[in-house]
Amino acid sequence: MQTTFSVRTSSRTTLVDITHDVQRAVEELAIADGAVLVYCPHTTAAITINESADPDVARDIDSKLGRLVPHSDGYRHSEGNSDAHVKSSLVGCSETVLVEDGALVLGTWQGVFFCEFDGPRTRTVIVGTLTSGD
Ligand code: ZN
Repeated sequence: MQTTFSVRTSSRTTLVDITHDVQRAVEELAIADGAVLVYCPHTTAAITINESADPDVARDIDSKLGRLVPHSDGYRHSEGNSDAHVKSSLVGCSETVLVEDGALVLGTWQGVFFCEFDGPRTRTVIVGTLTSGD
């Protein structure tokens, strides 16, 4: 069982808090207990879990990744977005989140983020059940 939602990003790189969209997907899928996979079917984007209380944390992650993996660095890929491909692999295209009593099990400061590395674009996020028997 799975569902999807769209994320519209507004700059080349940014982290978008999608926690509420993922929670809505859990409700749509009527999952009471189990786990969901939050998956991004893109090669220049990623999914991560980190602090959502202070938006500067997401900005710092985006900024630091930009310094670790420069936009231009002698890459071979002719599309000109190799930095985005590298960041996607470093961060990873999915996260697993436990669900209890219909709610995402996240720490007080945690949120789920869509990481855009080659925007702005409209992206897709897939939320699928990891419940036994599905
Ligand atoms: Zn490319």
